[in-house]
Amino acid sequence: SPIIFWFRRDLRLGDHPGLTEAVKSGRPVIPVFLHDEVVEVTGAAPRWRLGLGVGAFAETLSDKGSRLVLRRGKALEELRALVKETGAGAVWWSRLYDPDARQRDERVKAGLKDDGIDARSFEGHLMFEPWTVETGQGEFYKVYTPYWKAVRGRDVAPTLSAPKELPAPDSWPKSDKLEDWKMGAAMQRGAAVVEPYVCVGEDAASHRLGSFIANRVADYGEARDVPSVEGTSRLSENLTYGEISPRACWHAGVRAREEGKQGAETFLKELCWREFAYHLVHHTPRLTSDNWREEWSAFPWNEDERKAEVKAWKQGRTGIDFVDAAMREMFVTGTMHNRGRMIVASYLTKHLMCHWRIGKEWFEDCLIDWDPANNALGWQWSAGSGPDATPYFRVFNPETQAERFDKDGDYRKAWVAEGQSSPPKTALAYFDAIPKSWGMSPDDPEPEPVVGVKEGRERALDAYQNRDF
Ligand code: FAD
Repeated sequence: SPIIFWFRRDLRLGDHPGLTEAVKSGRPVIPVFLHDEVVEVTGAAPRWRLGLGVGAFAETLSDKGSRLVLRRGKALEELRALVKETGAGAVWWSRLYDPDARQRDERVKAGLKDDGIDARSFEGHLMFEPWTVETGQGEFYKVYTPYWKAVRGRDVAPTLSAPKELPAPDSWPKSDKLEDWKMGAAMQRGAAVVEPYVCVGEDAASHRLGSFIANRVADYGEARDVPSVEGTSRLSENLTYGEISPRACWHAGVRAREEGKQGAETFLKELCWREFAYHLVHHTPRLTSDNWREEWSAFPWNEDERKAEVKAWKQGRTGIDFVDAAMREMFVTGTMHNRGRMIVASYLTKHLMCHWRIGKEWFEDCLIDWDPANNALGWQWSAGSGPDATPYFRVFNPETQAERFDKDGDYRKAWVAEGQSSPPKTALAYFDAIPKSWGMSPDDPEPEPVVGVKEGRERALDAYQNRDF
């Protein structure tokens, strides 16, 4: 009987352990993607980008004589219906580790097993599954450096090649049309603005990795910190939808290290931050929703989204040009440089004393590389409420950061139009992207700081010193 392969964040054929196993069985394989309860609550930009990924993957499958069957509804109900329609005896998928996906998958597994279906999950989204890395005391790691030391010398299995073709079933179940799902509908700024910045699908991802290793990894150690330079791999967009496997990135990094390319070790370390984020989310699922350090619940965070400073932060008009540049970069391109992410997160949670959850949710709506574990860890790290976090009293100074990492102002000029006589295309694109209701124009005077750098820092430190925990 056929195997239904349920694809989620694993939109690839290469280095796919579950799919490889399914093809090896010699049974017909029915690839399926579900617009289910988890997709339903995904933010606007990641959902739009997911739609592009699903479209590209459907084409890849059709080149292999197969198809991607699309269905919308609750995962368990849709899979049960598909089992009935196709006579499949098995439903397989690649494991995910964030709480929303896990709860759904547990429901699905229990339900299908009750029906006597072979419901099985495989590795593939990570190199090191969260429960395979333990401290000497048999606990999970809460600090990155010892985690890194524990995994860095591990054998990582070689990548698997893509199946030559996928055995098709005698007949295909009916499928929705991707266009009918309108996965970009919630994206206010429309696809046109962000579209030039996306890099969709397995081939594009692999090409991106190749070009990063050939041209940029050697200098990655320093270049990765300069937001005006394309110094990083930009693979987060592809890793999050599984268009490339972390193992493929790891082996490419290891080869570059062997060739003496300086930055390769740092690249491998960064890949392991992703592994670490999933390690933590698996062991403490509240990382994605609540303060990891529970005492932070007593901190006087502003949790009111309607406040003027929250709006100013979201709209990239805090009057702090590095912060505004980064927020605008995200709105236009769907991604933000890591340096920018750290600075805007510090500014929101410290200078503006707003709860990190507000920022986490805005990112979740705007980022095409939104990743449930990396985003949550990044926010809790920045706010000081997370494990291995930067302490709250370490307040990033956006002005000093700008002097260090954007010396000539190239990044700020690229994204903030106000005050420039002939702003570049990038900075102007922001005004095409934003809703009219924001009432912003490139001819406006430069925004005044909503909270000054010094004043905000002092206020945050005061609150921190007088906290009652
Ligand atoms: P590279 O520098 O080329 O790194 C290679 C890969 O390593 C990345 O693609 C990513 O998978 C991983 N990586 C690098 N840095 C980190 C990190 N700090 N934490 C975890 N993994 C890392 N990353 C996301 O993928 N999705 C998010 O939603 C996300 N939200 C963030 C929110 C905040 C507040 C912060 C501070 C960081 C966040 N990050 C997130 C982490 C990081 O900023 C991005 O992974 C990185 O900027 C992606 O660019 P790149 O692919 O060019 O990275």
